[in-house]
Amino acid sequence: MNGKRCKICRNSKNNKIYIVHERMLNNGNTFQYLFCDRCGTLQLIDEVVDIGKYYQEDYHQGPVFLLLTTEEATEYGKAKVLRAGEKLYEDDHYVVYLYGSREELMSHAEER
Ligand SMILES: [Zn+2]
Repeated sequence: MNGKRCKICRNSKNNKIYIVHERMLNNGNTFQYLFCDRCGTLQLIDEVVDIGKYYQEDYHQGPVFLLLTTEEATEYGKAKVLRAGEKLYEDDHYVVYLYGSREELMSHAEER
């Protein structure tokens, strides 16, 4: 059965839709997520969500991941921020770097 299209790889076959109940604020809201059968990403598919309500300034503490496509990782390979991160994962399409915190990641970021 064809359904909603993946925002990443455009696949629309055999994707699964999950209805998830909001549990942080317990405001009764639900969100729809699409799990892509082709590339395996899980993505929020609700069109109108005030995401700032759920992710306020101090929401995240701890490790931060940076996901790049292989092309991006090649293009920015010599950048200070990539040399400073720990390469955690790599396949034919994506590379993931790990940093201890958002502050650590941003301290290595450079303006282009
Ligand atoms: Zn996909």
